[in-house]
Amino acid sequence: MAKYFGTNGVRGRFDELTPELTLRLSQAIGTYFKGGKIVVARDCRLTGDVLRSAVVSGLASVGCEVIDLGMASSPTAEYMVKRLAADGCIIISASHNPPEWNALKVVDGRGIALSRERGEEIERLMEKPGLAGWDKVGKIRTYETGTVEHIEAVKKLAQVERIAKRKPKIVIDCGNGAASFIAPRLLKELGCEITSLNSHPDGRFPGRPSEPTEANVKELIALVKSSGADAGIAWDGDGDRVIFVDEKGSYVIGDRVYALSIIWKADGKKLKGDVVTTVATSKAVEDVAAKYGARIRYTAIGAPYLCEEMARMVGILDSSGRGAVRSMAKKSAAMGGEEVGGVIWPELSMAKDGFMTAAKLAEALCEKPLSRWLEEVPRYSNVKLKIEADEKNKKEIVERVLAHAKNKKLDCVTVDGVRINLKDAWVICRPSGTEPYVRIFAEARNAGEAKRLAEEYEKIAKGT
Ligand code: MG
Repeated sequence: MAKYFGTNGVRGRFDELTPELTLRLSQAIGTYFKGGKIVVARDCRLTGDVLRSAVVSGLASVGCEVIDLGMASSPTAEYMVKRLAADGCIIISASHNPPEWNALKVVDGRGIALSRERGEEIERLMEKPGLAGWDKVGKIRTYETGTVEHIEAVKKLAQVERIAKRKPKIVIDCGNGAASFIAPRLLKELGCEITSLNSHPDGRFPGRPSEPTEANVKELIALVKSSGADAGIAWDGDGDRVIFVDEKGSYVIGDRVYALSIIWKADGKKLKGDVVTTVATSKAVEDVAAKYGARIRYTAIGAPYLCEEMARMVGILDSSGRGAVRSMAKKSAAMGGEEVGGVIWPELSMAKDGFMTAAKLAEALCEKPLSRWLEEVPRYSNVKLKIEADEKNKKEIVERVLAHAKNKKLDCVTVDGVRINLKDAWVICRPSGTEPYVRIFAEARNAGEAKRLAEEYEKIAKGT
């Protein structure tokens, strides 16, 4: 069991993810990447520069060549891994966590984020990091044009002339996070007319908490309405996830952002390849994918699993999740995305990229208002319940639900808890990884049906 690595890197407050631990982890990460070329970036958190020193020192001390992008968003760093043909990347950012937190997110040379399982391998290497000889320590190079190069790459994949002609009015809320480095400039260069909110970097996040929930973006919603803008966009702390606000001031939750992205990617034609998402995603995503001829593939919750599944599909990862198999793709992935508004556009990189998603919104607004686009995404209601359970009970509860599903010959997905797909509804029973609960989540066409379904499965789970 990993001691430090969670589902997506190592995360902690400053007294947990200390400079000392960061140095040791970075030496192990550098050893894991066999002393290759490693990209480093950080967001604007107040502890970022101290941890950056530990990261670059750790990497160079085991012989890695360090390319330090300075302050940049996560999608920028991940795009630059591919562009610079680097062997890996460490991003110093705790994404949507409060400002006292920080984290090391590790991405390999194929652009795949390291899961807890691969993190375990790194932790074993902490015992004996491969310290380089005095004349073999790596060079540390600063690289200042990462953001500009990322902007150019996004612009190449968007219809810039069309956007510049229509000049959509967009209010952007960067939450004082890493989106501030790129979003205002990107949208301006795309030809949008922008109004900025919380769009100067400030590691204390004074404007709003960095998770873009509906409650946290009230100011954005009000400004979209009062300014008569076409849409609002808010990013999380490191810029990989987005939520939208339509021209009427309605908040557009993450899985609807993903469903819209699928529609925009299809552009009225059949999608090439399957659509990947986690077991926690709304059925709206499956419905939209089906409309454009794509099948859905469900993964465990967590960006690395999503990324690994896509990599497997395009043939750059073998089934064990380890060695690189750079063979012809047997199957292709159209796109990947998660319920919280992170969308992977594989034509750009294997990272969730909230800036590519924003550019696609700007493009879509040239055709019709966002509220009209949303009419194409089916609406569902959901209900969440939780059952108290210790580790032993968690297992029994999930097994009981699985036995019920098998007995009734229901369509179920078992990669992370049990997700049961029903007609126009689904329910998931999943043990919490960090708390003493098993969660039941049901989604159906209306609130009454979702409640009935959640309660039915609560009974099944409890065996009553
Ligand atoms: Mg994030």
